[in-house]
Amino acid sequence: MNNGKKRKRPRWVPKDADDHYTTNVMDGIHSGHEGFERPEKKKKSFKRQSLSISDYEKGVLDGDRTIIARAITLVESNSKRHREDAQALIKRLLPHAGQSIRIGITGMPGSGKSTFIEAVGNFLCDNSHRVAVLAVDPSSSITKGSILGDKTRMAKLSTRPEAFIRPSPSGGVLGGVARKSRETMIVLEAAGFDVILVETVGVGQSEITVRSMVDFFLLLTITGAGDELQGMKKGVMELADAILINKADGENRRKAEVTKSEYNRILHYLQPATKGRETKAYTCSALTGDGIEEIWDIIRQFEKDVRASGVFTQRRHTQDVDWMHAMIDEYLQKQFYDDECVKANLPRVKEALLKGEMTPAMGASELLKCLS
Ligand code: GDP
Repeated sequence: MNNGKKRKRPRWVPKDADDHYTTNVMDGIHSGHEGFERPEKKKKSFKRQSLSISDYEKGVLDGDRTIIARAITLVESNSKRHREDAQALIKRLLPHAGQSIRIGITGMPGSGKSTFIEAVGNFLCDNSHRVAVLAVDPSSSITKGSILGDKTRMAKLSTRPEAFIRPSPSGGVLGGVARKSRETMIVLEAAGFDVILVETVGVGQSEITVRSMVDFFLLLTITGAGDELQGMKKGVMELADAILINKADGENRRKAEVTKSEYNRILHYLQPATKGRETKAYTCSALTGDGIEEIWDIIRQFEKDVRASGVFTQRRHTQDVDWMHAMIDEYLQKQFYDDECVKANLPRVKEALLKGEMTPAMGASELLKCLS
């Protein structure tokens, strides 16, 4: 549209071009950096007030949500200075931690994990509990986004003052993510959250990792065409303290009951995840809330029994020792691969190995000499 006025045409427009030729040229702006308009005045940058370890400690113990979130950010940081501060904070919080029940929840995408957490989380908040939701998702470091622990997936729970939802840290490898989640758990326990739900997605190694940091492990599944049991790995079933067949509502209800019996039949022959317990299957509907209270009763009874038998404390002790070993392994591995001599010789040794001039044992022993 030129409103009847003939606009001056830029030089590159062919002489015989009609009026529909795109020739609209905007006036330039008097720009600053990269073409953006220069701001009138430099805006003041907002700098967060730095907190001392005592400030963090007090804030967390007082249940101050802003400070809890900042303490978790500190714990999740990879910077060396932050790591030292985080360790000092964790040390102070440890005497106040450990009072919660830690529950792992796994299941394939679409099995209803977030709907279930929303349902059980709200039920618990209504019953005087304080609930924290964490996610362990190593894939988040690859996709730069997480499908777990997303607040929008737990709409009501995320607005409740009794709940705290933290998405998966983007910590790179699973070991890093797990370390951060374990320490976050300590912060949240010290802040008074008495139920910690740790969500993970059903893909092998992350399930084993979450199992190693919780007291109770819940496997969420759904009923389908009847062949779902074949797809379910025996190893994963042996990690679970309960298998919950979700979406047992409407027409699916009867099918879910059949699936439950099938699981129970198989579970009978498997190794239980917790000494002295029998893992069983149950049904629920996260959507209608059917079975939610029942599964909570089962978890509560489990906790009561294993606390009484000593298995609860024993498991936590074993987890702590395993965690320490895992951290030592991680540290040593990093030391090794960061070593200048290893870096310089690794390609040559690898090549010699591939040419058949060295055995793997010879290669390893040569590189390990770098550390001595
Ligand atoms: P996630 O990927 O495991 O977290 O699964 P979601 O919680 O996002 O659920 C996937 C889909 O299943 C959503 O459309 C939910 O509304 C639906 N869903 C979850 N739980 C139930 C349930 O108990 N019954 C029915 N009918 N649908 C459900």
